[in-house]
Amino acid sequence: MNKASPPTENSSEDGAAPPSGGRVSVLFPMPLPKAYDYACEGGAPPLGAFVTAPFGPREVTGVVWPSEGEAPPLEKLKKLAGVFDAPALSPELIAFIDWAAAYTMFPKGALLRMVMRVSDALEGPRMQTAYVRAGTPEGLRITAQRKAVLAAASQTPQFASELASAAEVSEAVVRGLADAGALTRVEVDPDPPFDPPDLERQGPALSDDQQFAADALTDVIAEGGHKAVLIDGVTGSGKTEVYFEAVVAALKKDPEAQALILLPEIALTLPFLTRVEERFGAAPAPWHSDLTAAQRRRTWRRVAEGSARLVVGARSALFLPFKKLGLIVVDEEHDNAYKQEEGVIYHARDMAVARGSLAGFPVALASATPSLETVVNVDEGRYDAVGLSSRFADAAMPDIRLIDMREDPPEQGRWLSPALVREIDRNLSVHEQSLLFLNRRGYAPLTLCRRCGHKMTAPGSDSMLVEHRFENRLVCHHTGFSMPKPSACPVCNAVDALTPCGPGVERVAEEAKERWPEARIAVLSSDTAPGPKSMREVLDAMKAGEIDILIATQVAAKGHHFPNLTLVGVVDADLGLAGGDLRAAERTYQLLSQVTGRAGRAEKPGRAFLQTYQPDAPVLAALATGDRDAFLAAEAIGRRDLGFPPYGRLAAVTLRSLDEQALDKTANALKASAPYADGVEVLGPARAPIYRLRGVARMRLLVKAKRNVSLQAYLADWLAKVKVPGPVRVTVDINPYSFL
Ligand code: ADP
Repeated sequence: MNKASPPTENSSEDGAAPPSGGRVSVLFPMPLPKAYDYACEGGAPPLGAFVTAPFGPREVTGVVWPSEGEAPPLEKLKKLAGVFDAPALSPELIAFIDWAAAYTMFPKGALLRMVMRVSDALEGPRMQTAYVRAGTPEGLRITAQRKAVLAAASQTPQFASELASAAEVSEAVVRGLADAGALTRVEVDPDPPFDPPDLERQGPALSDDQQFAADALTDVIAEGGHKAVLIDGVTGSGKTEVYFEAVVAALKKDPEAQALILLPEIALTLPFLTRVEERFGAAPAPWHSDLTAAQRRRTWRRVAEGSARLVVGARSALFLPFKKLGLIVVDEEHDNAYKQEEGVIYHARDMAVARGSLAGFPVALASATPSLETVVNVDEGRYDAVGLSSRFADAAMPDIRLIDMREDPPEQGRWLSPALVREIDRNLSVHEQSLLFLNRRGYAPLTLCRRCGHKMTAPGSDSMLVEHRFENRLVCHHTGFSMPKPSACPVCNAVDALTPCGPGVERVAEEAKERWPEARIAVLSSDTAPGPKSMREVLDAMKAGEIDILIATQVAAKGHHFPNLTLVGVVDADLGLAGGDLRAAERTYQLLSQVTGRAGRAEKPGRAFLQTYQPDAPVLAALATGDRDAFLAAEAIGRRDLGFPPYGRLAAVTLRSLDEQALDKTANALKASAPYADGVEVLGPARAPIYRLRGVARMRLLVKAKRNVSLQAYLADWLAKVKVPGPVRVTVDINPYSFL
């Protein structure tokens, strides 16, 4: 077992200094701000060791943590219960967790919990019985079933279930053959190590631009130490090939080093794993929400022991227990999916840079539309940048035009303007593919009673219910609540008066099917393709040219390469601009240039049309002219004038409660007790734009501070002053991205 066994004589290894004799501090993976002290017999386990200790009525697994403050006398301490025979967390990760807790203002234990999510990984391998082919013993009775099993068996160990399903027999047949001596039982580790990446394997011959960028990155790696480097290049310019070279350099430099490539979306992760395998001759260790428990355990264990050298994962991979991390690549660094909004609130890109900075390794950020934060970090000399100016093999950038919907409106009840319809006609006639982009799931975002004006909302919520016509339901996209669409208005009882307002992808698809009945039309959104597998099917069909018009939300926007797609129509280019949060224009720019970047990625030139009612908005003008830098410069001025990030600091203090009175009172009390500090401004309290969700009401205060102010210190001082009543919960979001 690797179950925790009693502490032994000096189990300290790796040169990590054991905590002072006879006592250790243990941090538990619970929302606790500090580690607790325990006595231990014999030598103390090393820092980072996984241990069990009595905590409250139970024994809990935790990690030996650096001691802080004055420890109580030894005789008052409870005893450590056991130590796991598992690799200890690295001092680098411990320092990172401490830092990240202080930065995000979440308790250390809550961050440790993110590291320890794989509950059975500490148990070590539970060997499983598998079977390999042995010689055929004399006199073996061969039945048709047995024959099938023997045909399926080989020298590669297979489990009884695998053999049985390959031979379409029951597992008893497999066991019977083993008893008879025709198969040999072997014990195998269910979490086999990952094959190491082949670092000598040749990648593609790089273009001059790519070589220059790759050299710059390998120089940074050779030099050693921390540096953040932006790889800035349009979609399709070959950034991925460039950072693969950085991975090779980092892994070659130190035979124990590990590299992590972060991707914003799991739908991107699956094809990416194949791409990595093609490049390195071995699949990387994957980490994302769609893994089975066994796959998670395998990655976690192999990352912890250091044998998984290349990991590809979503944001939470940042909290894997790497033994010796030597490089992080954050692809699509601008993507908001890197911001985790639930549980511990953090931004994985910023945390990646922090982890690299604390541990002294480089971090590469790749994007075609880097965030303003990153661009400012480059401009101010904190980050390096390398640029790739053109598309690989000179595929042209798409020609982007605006369609002024005031001058060329669609017919009543339709969503596609005559100009866009003509373009799609043209594309269909030459058998090229079109993508209609609308970042709105479902059929209609609002359902309104024509008689009394009632807007359909979810119970106890202020969010609008979205009609999903394929399922004939109304769905709340914030809470997941759904109900069949009623035939009568729940307020005035008028029958057949509930009217869908505005379009979602399903409604645009309805129009497209009416207009082009012969065309092969598909819809892609997280509803129509729940799960990465079915999403993959639609994306593959698109790639294979089996779809003429794809109508999709942002799930089709990123990273995909459709060789025969030459036209992108953005149904509502103004959509992201409403709502007025500080990054609305930036986000619109990023999303729409990603989407329009889907057009013409192979040898055929692409074109994109943006339907808009505000063609003069700077962000749309910038998209049409492709002048990203001018747009960012204008955005930067706007943010600087307002003192918003990255020119100032911002935190959101959100209060939640079922009890609206208590909420109101607490929010006002908080505001009243905000200490005066130079360079700090407290705004609000204001109701959240969607005030109630499932009965829970939310209010928000925003704290804006100059860059030289320690926002965390200010917040800690302030929040300690106010006694928050039981029914109200307060969360802090440092540098918020969501203002809903
Ligand atoms: P980005 O990451 O900038 O969007 P990719 O690295 O995905 O760009 O490259 C775009 C396409 O060009 C991919 O299909 C990739 O395989 C191909 N490509 C990029 N660089 C090279 C190269 N040096 N040789 C051959 N193909 C390349």
